Amino acid sequence: MNIILLGPPGAGKGTQAKLLEDTRGMKQLSTGDMLRAEIAGQTEIGLRVKAIMDSGALVPDEVVIDMIAHRIEQPDCAKGFILDGFPRTVPQAEALDAMLAAKNKKLGAVIQLVVDEDALLARIEKRAAESTTVRADDNAEALKKRLTAYRDQTAPIVPYYEGKNMLKKVDGMAAVNLVSEQIDKILG
Ligand code: AMP
Repeated sequence: MNIILLGPPGAGKGTQAKLLEDTRGMKQLSTGDMLRAEIAGQTEIGLRVKAIMDSGALVPDEVVIDMIAHRIEQPDCAKGFILDGFPRTVPQAEALDAMLAAKNKKLGAVIQLVVDEDALLARIEKRAAESTTVRADDNAEALKKRLTAYRDQTAPIVPYYEGKNMLKKVDGMAAVNLVSEQIDKILG
């Protein structure tokens, strides 16, 4: 099954995606991780997006749409993929629909991790404190911009998928194991 995990930065999408990789053999596709790899490799894309990402803004739609279109065709996605951090705008969601239709693939579910925004700053600060490789955008200023980007550009995809009757909400404030239980129930 192919699914989308949706939620603001720090909602726990990456943690849940990794659990699903382990338990179901699905492949986590994190556009944030892919972009960070491009930056680390100093590729043309990496050089183009570094300053944008560091600031907390979204990179242009076509960059991530192209990445995902190529990525979902790889053999490791055959058992299903988990989109983590994509789509993040309505045009990305529309492009995803078009590419899935063209490749004869389907979305099984769109799972929204619903979280209390006040708790997110604390979560991200904790992540930055615990990580050895602190992300350039894990700081208060960039986080504020990432949350604004989520509200303005990503939240509109919630009604987009509600309109298609695909959206499932889970309580993202619960403990990690309880969040994954909720997701397991949805996936069956
Ligand atoms: P993430 O690791 O998902 O929090 O993403 C980190 C950053 O990568 C975001 O703040 C954006 O700058 C960029 N990014 C990741 N995914 C997307 C996307 N689907 N659309 C636009 N920008 C993205």
